[in-house]
Amino acid sequence: MTLAPALLFSLAAPLLAAQTPADLVLSGGAVYTVDAARSWAQVVAVRAGRIAYVGTEGGVKAFIGPKTRVLKLDGRMVLPGFQDAHIHPVSGGVELGQCNVNDLPTADAVFAKVRECAKTMAAKPWLLGGGWLLPVFPGGNPKKELLDAIVPDKPAMLSAADGHSSWVNSKALELAGITKDTPDPKDGRIERDPVTKEATGTLRESASDLVAKYVPDTTAAERLDGLRRALALLAKSGVTAVQEASAGSGAEGSGASGTMQAYIDAEKSGQLTLRVVAALGTDNGRGPEQVDELVKLRSRYSTAHVKPIAAKIFADGVIEPRTAAMLTDYTDRPGWRGEPNFTEAALNALVLRLAEADFNVHIHAIGDRAVRMSLDAFEAAQSKTSVRGQRHQIAHLEVIDPADIPRFRKLGVIANFQALWAYADDYIVDMTWGGLGAERSRWIYPIGSVVRAGGVLALGSDWSVSSLNPLDAIQVAVTRQGIEEPKRAAMVPEEAIDLATALAGYTIGSAYANNLEKETGSIEVGKAADLIVLSKNLFDVKASEIAKQTVLLTLLEGQPVYRAPELAW
Ligand SMILES: [Zn+2]
Repeated sequence: MTLAPALLFSLAAPLLAAQTPADLVLSGGAVYTVDAARSWAQVVAVRAGRIAYVGTEGGVKAFIGPKTRVLKLDGRMVLPGFQDAHIHPVSGGVELGQCNVNDLPTADAVFAKVRECAKTMAAKPWLLGGGWLLPVFPGGNPKKELLDAIVPDKPAMLSAADGHSSWVNSKALELAGITKDTPDPKDGRIERDPVTKEATGTLRESASDLVAKYVPDTTAAERLDGLRRALALLAKSGVTAVQEASAGSGAEGSGASGTMQAYIDAEKSGQLTLRVVAALGTDNGRGPEQVDELVKLRSRYSTAHVKPIAAKIFADGVIEPRTAAMLTDYTDRPGWRGEPNFTEAALNALVLRLAEADFNVHIHAIGDRAVRMSLDAFEAAQSKTSVRGQRHQIAHLEVIDPADIPRFRKLGVIANFQALWAYADDYIVDMTWGGLGAERSRWIYPIGSVVRAGGVLALGSDWSVSSLNPLDAIQVAVTRQGIEEPKRAAMVPEEAIDLATALAGYTIGSAYANNLEKETGSIEVGKAADLIVLSKNLFDVKASEIAKQTVLLTLLEGQPVYRAPELAW
């Protein structure tokens, strides 16, 4: 039939012209699609929550009807919504409602804030809060007497910004029955006076639980309130999907159900402004038998936008108090290299059981030994089970032995970095370099090496440990310097990544870690319209200006969840 081609053509043309009009057209933008070819476009059309067209001003005409809203962007940048692959929205938001000493640069500023809290929160049975920076106190070791002087009459507990230490007063120690005879718990340390052996007021890792278990449980209403605060900040920062890094541990209280219920409650009441993948917390003290409970939680709390399909394991601590597990001794503490939270056999068994149950295993590993043990556990699991396709990942990765760098690609393990930490801040200069020595310090946050070796990169903030604004982390990933007035040289500049790589990490890379890469993470026809508009094209601004840019519009499935006042709508 020679007629067929002509016939097809004549039918096709009217069909194109009769496109159902788009609801929204973003026009005149610098649209960085983050598709496989990393292509650019000028226009995106959104219809019924999905991307209907990506291309040129000419091409979009067929999508513009009388009711289509056309937003003129004057060259501003359009990106897929950011995805944060490691963050604690519920506990971070709860903390914001407590005594919040985040980012205070001196001990005096912390004392002033706690004094203010003691007044405004006088009616509460405990003074609770957190966010203090370790370098603000000598040795990262604040004393109970300092807190007693402000809060003498009731228990007080303030967690450190990194969540791995707590500062408590005498009342709290008394209530928990901690005396000079109390032994250090497994995976924890009570800081003590070297002579009297009395607790001095700082508790490391699991030692915090000795006091935390007496803290009144956070209520469901407090958790939902906290989540709402976090969601507002995330929408304003252009984040349209997160991986809740540890449902059921830390300040949120009351286990994974409490955290998951907060997400479900937010979704039911129409307040959930992003997609949630959650890593259900595991308990270091228990083995593979706990996985059955996680399977039940996964089915109970799965909804359209909330998916608890990951499981979190803490393999070690952190470097500053020397609780991270290293392959060789800390330079300043001969004979001590930190203890991992698991034996190899125990970690392998837990990871295998989680993989068999089809969980994405999300491991916290800071020291090079914890990283190697985690990679070994993934390798062992792959050889023992035929269940495939999970998005296993290791988060933080502060020090990786160079021999392990190619293994991320080889094993398909996602490298989940918190790029905002990858510069010479006071934590690194005062508390890290001295413990690692020069040779190992070369391998602090080796993001560039993992990427060059072909590893999949996901990025996340670990908020409330540090800022949740992806532009902050992207700037540091590119510069390896602090954001405000960098006072020091770039830290291991050969580990910097370029802007395109950093943007991919915060979009399609984290989408992959979230099992969302078919639905989101790039601007392609058919995907959900999770999109953001930035004040400027990031490729046109100096690297040191990236964090100064702002998000003007955040769309989730085509609906604005944040709109800056200066954007005409
Ligand atoms: Zn975390």
